[in-house]
Amino acid sequence: MPPLGRPGGRHHEAPPRSLSFAGGIMNSISPIGTAIGARRWKPTPVISGTIALHAGAAAAVAAQHAWWPWAAGSVVASHLALTAAGLWPRSTLLGPNWTALPASAGNRIALTIDDGPDPDVTPRVLDLLDRYDARATFFCIGDAARRYPHCVEAIAARGHAVENHSQRHRHHFSLQGPRALRREIEAAQNTLTEISGVRPLFFRAPAGLRNPFLEPVLCALGLQLASWTRRGFDTRNRDAEAVSRRLLAGLAARDILLLHDGHAARDAQGKPIVLEVLPTVLKAAHDAQLRWTTLRAALDSRPPSPGCTTLTQAPKLAGAPAEANRQPDGTQ
Ligand SMILES: [Zn+2]
Repeated sequence: MPPLGRPGGRHHEAPPRSLSFAGGIMNSISPIGTAIGARRWKPTPVISGTIALHAGAAAAVAAQHAWWPWAAGSVVASHLALTAAGLWPRSTLLGPNWTALPASAGNRIALTIDDGPDPDVTPRVLDLLDRYDARATFFCIGDAARRYPHCVEAIAARGHAVENHSQRHRHHFSLQGPRALRREIEAAQNTLTEISGVRPLFFRAPAGLRNPFLEPVLCALGLQLASWTRRGFDTRNRDAEAVSRRLLAGLAARDILLLHDGHAARDAQGKPIVLEVLPTVLKAAHDAQLRWTTLRAALDSRPPSPGCTTLTQAPKLAGAPAEANRQPDGTQ
């Protein structure tokens, strides 16, 4: 078992001496009163700088045509920098991005499970989570949810959170423009809301890759981008021990872990890696007296996002039932 540690600067509350397993109390922060409504997009300094650079380059060429190679060069360089920021999943250069839980989460950690639902793996993941009375956040793919709605219903019914991982999980997601991004994300919002009965509040980009058009779309749909603190590469790595090591080395309060129930790698016996890794991770967290929470439960008491201004009107979802916009009480 790798040693558990705490990176510097992290607030760590004194853990309780005993853990309550009754009614899932160990996973809660407090009842959810917080909902992310549509927000006004506010560009990050990098985006503002890029816009200013474009204007400056245009003005320079207008004033002195011979300067065009320099102007074009600086514009190309700024685009390359934005592209690099989009290829870095944990970057906050393009907009707010949860790479860890907020300080108010105390000694809680979050388990996020991507790319499902999968009719073979998801039910077994749910059973393992029940064994430790742990609540997780499932970033579901809309098309998979449509194929296996009973899995999404089971995720919600057993107290976990269902969040948005796009409708089709396309590999070229990050190459799309704002309209296509919105179509893809809004389709998943509608699908997941309709099946789970709860509107997703978080979005995770396929493979974590994105572009500068994503954040304005998320603001309009009332979604918060979430990445992770540490991931095990369990869709590629067939060595469960190595995956566990990656997830648990230095595990600390407020960490967001990433595993997969969809696209899961399998070991030599054909067993999905996540099913071998999960008991180790759940036991390690229990032994370290870290408590599980969902991302949406951690929203409570969180200070407003610096990148967006909350508007009063929540986004309307086409085709979503009226009760679908209700928020869960968040008590787990
Ligand atoms: Zn994914």
